[in-house]
Amino acid sequence: MPVDAGPSATDEVRRRNTAVVMRLLRDSGALSRSDLARRSGLAKATVGTIIGQLQQVGAVSERASESTGRGRPSTPVVLAGESLVALGLEVNVDYVATTTVDLAGRELSFEERPVGGDGPQLADVLRLVRDEVARLEAGGTTLLGLTVAVPGLIDRTRGRVVEAPNLGWVDLDLAGALSAELGDRVPVAVDNDANCAARAESLHGVAAGVNDFVYLTGTVGLGAGIVSGGQIVRGSRGLAGEVGHQRVGDERHACACGRTGCWEAKVGLRALVRATGIPLEPGEDPVSYAERVVKAPDTLPAIAEIGASLARGVAQLAATLDPAMIVLGGSFVPLGEVLVPAVEEALARGFTGPGCTVALSTLGLHAASVGAAVDALDDVYAGRRTLI
Ligand SMILES: [Zn+2]
Repeated sequence: MPVDAGPSATDEVRRRNTAVVMRLLRDSGALSRSDLARRSGLAKATVGTIIGQLQQVGAVSERASESTGRGRPSTPVVLAGESLVALGLEVNVDYVATTTVDLAGRELSFEERPVGGDGPQLADVLRLVRDEVARLEAGGTTLLGLTVAVPGLIDRTRGRVVEAPNLGWVDLDLAGALSAELGDRVPVAVDNDANCAARAESLHGVAAGVNDFVYLTGTVGLGAGIVSGGQIVRGSRGLAGEVGHQRVGDERHACACGRTGCWEAKVGLRALVRATGIPLEPGEDPVSYAERVVKAPDTLPAIAEIGASLARGVAQLAATLDPAMIVLGGSFVPLGEVLVPAVEEALARGFTGPGCTVALSTLGLHAASVGAAVDALDDVYAGRRTLI
């Protein structure tokens, strides 16, 4: 039976073509209309129409013309989009962080707020998001999407936190609560914090250009963002990367998940507090705490103990996944002088031998929220959402 696919088919084609043009601009920086037509395979007239419409909504702008030496000068087009932003939010045990990025994924703003004694509550998160969205909209900015990074098991398809033991969150419809708060105008997603951080590292951090690497979060919990062939490895249910709960720790140490012997309980922030005897100060984030520990007297043996346990677990990950790089994030970064050589030595002694670089994150506590904000742009670049 014939199907009248007229207008919807046209919309679909336009959305797809727009996404092709936008991806080319994102990945190449500045391109003339002719370059865009050549690289996309679209007709010049089609490219011209798309660019014109993107200009009208403030998504692209023209740079001063460059002479090509022959014929008419070409006018490069670049992504503009400082008025079109995405918001990334990281919820963690002792802090929440927000990052806004522009249409090209460049960081525009970052804010970190300490969280009080009982850890972050849903009401706090909703209030923070409401304030942030109001601030952006008051400045005339259009929010394209929001992704929240959470340390725990995430059902990304349904936007639910399955379990985040360190937050005390179980089976929470986080995307639903945020959508109820913001209405339909802002698409909302939820993802694991390590996956988001790995995404940021591969775009803006030490793992830029590295196709196979593992990012290890260094917060109260310990999670891995596993990147293989340039893609985040999510597993059959989206739960891959929960390395902190591998039983490679010490059976005497209880984990927040209710089990004993988890790696996280041996190398996470609580293990560092236990090993050094230096209490966390109210409102202190994991990086600031680790910086204080490094400067404190006689903490080297405690850090070395963490390093030995970290190295054992990383060697197992390397033997399983064969990454080109291990990126240590968060509180591991200030401890790097001790941790990196320990991990390097364990890798070199391992069955798969040396050849895997050990690097410290350069994004600090920004990593997860930056990655979350970039994630919130995906619908636009995949053509699932159009700006025109
Ligand atoms: Zn555990």
